[in-house]
Amino acid sequence: MRHFPIFLALSERIVIVSGGGEAALAKLRLLMKTEAALHVYAEAPAPEIAQWATEGRLTLHRRLLAHDDVAGAALVYAADEDDVLDARTAHHARAQGVLLNVVDNLEESQFITPAIVDRDPVTVAIGTEGAAPVLARAIKAQLEETLPAATGPLARIGQAFRKMAEALPHGRARRDFWSDYYFNAGPRALPQGEAAVRDTLDALLEGHLTRDQRAGFVSFVGSGPGDPDLLTLKARRLLDRADVVLYDRLAPQPILELARREAVLIEVGKTGFGPSTPQETINALIVEHAAKGAQVVRLKGGDPTLFGRLDEEIDALTAHGIAYEIVPGITAASAAVAAIGQSLTKRGRNQQVRLLTAHDTEGFADHDWRTLAAPGQVAAIYMGKRAARFVQGRLLMHSAAPDTPVTVVSNASRPDQSVVECTLATLSADLDLCPDGPALILYGLAPRDALPTVQSLRRQEVS
Ligand code: SAH
Repeated sequence: MRHFPIFLALSERIVIVSGGGEAALAKLRLLMKTEAALHVYAEAPAPEIAQWATEGRLTLHRRLLAHDDVAGAALVYAADEDDVLDARTAHHARAQGVLLNVVDNLEESQFITPAIVDRDPVTVAIGTEGAAPVLARAIKAQLEETLPAATGPLARIGQAFRKMAEALPHGRARRDFWSDYYFNAGPRALPQGEAAVRDTLDALLEGHLTRDQRAGFVSFVGSGPGDPDLLTLKARRLLDRADVVLYDRLAPQPILELARREAVLIEVGKTGFGPSTPQETINALIVEHAAKGAQVVRLKGGDPTLFGRLDEEIDALTAHGIAYEIVPGITAASAAVAAIGQSLTKRGRNQQVRLLTAHDTEGFADHDWRTLAAPGQVAAIYMGKRAARFVQGRLLMHSAAPDTPVTVVSNASRPDQSVVECTLATLSADLDLCPDGPALILYGLAPRDALPTVQSLRRQEVS
């Protein structure tokens, strides 16, 4: 270890930055997060620096750094991006025995500034001794993902509660309390403000002191169209912490694998016309587990608020006084339209888009076909494969143009994604070209001519 990591108290200490360009700006953005007294020496400072000086966030000296300026400073940054000027700054710092960093010059520097993940008061510093900045960035990106933005405020509020938490016995009990706070109850309460978080801490402590009364909770989580990379970070975290995961038949394996190893995974199979678990059974299962105090993830394809019978499940929870949250996901329409390189809305073509289902609990669903049949309309038709002939018939009956473009995207975002391009007239016949799996009908949209290569190849395989 050539560099020893420390966290330096900079409150009211002098930090000097020599330079007024990009390098100085980058350092200043970081340094302004501290409570240091910043002094910038630059003959031609960038406008941002002048602005910060006006706002009193730093002191600007419109001249070169002089020998005496350095005395008593905690740190000096040579950030002039000019070898001669940097050498001058370095000389002054060394002469005064002040710690020196020369930007982009590891050899001349006495200290280096690490890559930082800032969740104040939680700060993670990553150093590679200057050897692998790319690696440092990758680690930083990973940490940014795992440490939600709420970590900082939660840590600050949690800090003030440490004494109270000592009511819990040392070890496991206290650890469980804090992990419940940081990863479940805290992030949920934060949107309602700090006071709500403090109330939550009180309630949580109470609950942990009388452990068996811990309340269950249900998260309705959108799992997106299938590609695990299209999961939200929140969905990943919840899966990682769930006691019970209830999922539909089409939930992809790679997504289920994100669940905690100890979690109970329950399939509540549901397909359009195939064998399915009755809704009442699903409702009862969710209630049963939550009532036992479990953290339940009810995983739903795409976005949970679209064609997912969410309200029935929520009603069941409400009837039993069980708390829940809804975690949005990327809906199939977004993935399907991305696959064909188009937009769901476009200026001058369609200012609105309909998301509709071709069949409901009663059978084929009726809609305002006349409006949809007008030129330029766009609709994303869910669960439309078997109802395609019906939809086609209704639209043609209401004088839709037979050559209206229609695209069927099957398994959008999954490795076996396929795109079939047709027209309203050929829709029901062309559906034979679609592979098995969920399919979304994009009415009024054709794939963009110059599609990304991979997708064009896939299309040729099918047609
Ligand atoms: N809540 C889901 C929709 C549930 S209804 C969402 O927001 O996407 C189920 C229908 O969604 C399927 O019949 C199909 O029309 C569509 N669908 C879901 N995943 C899909 C995928 N990966 N590709 C194409 N269509 C999909």
